[in-house]
Amino acid sequence: MTDKVLSKKLKSLITVRVIFVTLLLGSFFILQVGYRNFPYPRATLNLIIALYTLTIVYSILLNRVKLYALFAYAQLFIDASAINILIYLTGGIESWFSFIMPLTVMSASAVLDRRAGYIIATFNSILYGIIIDLQYYKLLPIEYDMTLTEKAFLYNIFAHISAFYLVAFLSGYLSSRLEKTTHALEQTDSDLRELSLFNEELIENIPSGIFTTDTEGRILTFNRAAENITGFGRKIALSRSIDEIFPFIARGVDIERIEGVISHQKAGDRVISLTISELRDIAEKNKGFIGIFQDITQFKEMETEIKQKEKWAAIGELSANIAHEIRNPIASLKGSVEMLRENIVAEEHKKRLMEIALKEMDRLNNIISDFLTYSSPRPAEFNAFDLNLMLDDTLELLAHTAPVQDNIAIRKDFNAPPDVYADNQKLRQVFWNLGMNAIEAMPEGGELSVSTRENDNLIEIIFRDTGAGISQENIGKVFYPFFTTKDGGTGLGLAIAYRIIEEHNGKINITSNNSGTTFKVIIPYVNGKT
Ligand code: ADP
Ligand code: MG
Repeated sequence: MTDKVLSKKLKSLITVRVIFVTLLLGSFFILQVGYRNFPYPRATLNLIIALYTLTIVYSILLNRVKLYALFAYAQLFIDASAINILIYLTGGIESWFSFIMPLTVMSASAVLDRRAGYIIATFNSILYGIIIDLQYYKLLPIEYDMTLTEKAFLYNIFAHISAFYLVAFLSGYLSSRLEKTTHALEQTDSDLRELSLFNEELIENIPSGIFTTDTEGRILTFNRAAENITGFGRKIALSRSIDEIFPFIARGVDIERIEGVISHQKAGDRVISLTISELRDIAEKNKGFIGIFQDITQFKEMETEIKQKEKWAAIGELSANIAHEIRNPIASLKGSVEMLRENIVAEEHKKRLMEIALKEMDRLNNIISDFLTYSSPRPAEFNAFDLNLMLDDTLELLAHTAPVQDNIAIRKDFNAPPDVYADNQKLRQVFWNLGMNAIEAMPEGGELSVSTRENDNLIEIIFRDTGAGISQENIGKVFYPFFTTKDGGTGLGLAIAYRIIEEHNGKINITSNNSGTTFKVIIPYVNGKT
């Protein structure tokens, strides 16, 4: 028990004593009970006055003494003695005041501890035993009812002593329980305090900026990292609303991850990545918002640098491919023209050489126009049109192109709503490219089936052929520009198709095995009529 607690208990003891003595005194004078019967009325009054005086002395001493326990014992002993004197004055065995003695035992247990209770109980037993004994042997001048036998005296002493110890036991038990509970509560209290201190330190030292706001967006907490990242001191931040610190937050903060730029007083513009979420209390009630943010300026710079590098690498690769694609036809063109200039070829071969030269020029032209479509496409123009009609047209044209022999059958099965809203010309190009590839994949003949269907507001257009299929190794590369396995191929057909479908927010899937290939184009269904 600390001195502080003990001094508080002593204060209560002194107060309770004053109240008790006052009540006793009051009852003397107001009720006039037993006053006359007391053998020593004056002495009783003196005792009470003495107790009052002692109270004043105790109160003065309370703030001076250092040894509180000793002071407490002194008071308790004096109390016990005073009560025994009162009992002596008011008739010994016949006194009405023996009931007060257990109160001193209880006070001892409550103010000090269990042991003090037993000590005061023992002290009371001795004093009371002596008084009653001396009264019995008439060594003290106290009168008593002569009908009381020796047995009655013994029993009285026995009953009192038993009561003292019983009270000492019970009050000691209660006070030790109380002490334990108080101790446990104090422990919990300090645990909680430590935990909240730990939380505070954690938030202070975390490298991410953290703030909390009320429901209006006014800042309530702002940790050290937040100060460093934003350049706002805590004092200033706490008087602001959150959109003054992060101007890129739209009014009426919502739960989201946002990136934005703030201007730091010293470090200039900084890119911030900020996640805001609602702050809820245990009852799930919204208390405001909590935000966690990082300075991602450096990361962003690195990202653009890498992107730039990747772009250059891609441009380099593309240029190499173009050069390669163009050089081949030029080489054969050059050969043909040279032979014609030398005039060494027979007349009948001249026509053949001219044909080769023209074919190579065509091919060059194809490569260039394909490449232009791929590299600088015109922007998409969305129109409402009939998809079925457009597919019919395209397949009709395909059926009349040179490589299509009679042994290729084209089958159609259109189930999607035909009224679409898209770029007609561009989609036509996609389907043309897919159809051409399918036909080119079936030199020995086969079947091209084209079907459409609608599923979950998406339109699927499926081109299935019975050609040789795409090898596992190549299937990941077919959309790369210039990837081709054909002698006269440009490798741009699927790259163009891919880009166009991307413009329509759709995608292309391929499944292929050695008995055929399926391309599935999926685009969102936007009804052309609405
Ligand atoms: P190109 O047709 O000029 O070769 P594409 O981009 O249209 O270029 O196609 C790239 C490659 O993908 C083709 O060379 C071919 O190997 C493969 N490919 C595309 N479609 C099919 C198909 N239906 N069946 C088999 N292979 C295909
Ligand atoms: Mg092609």
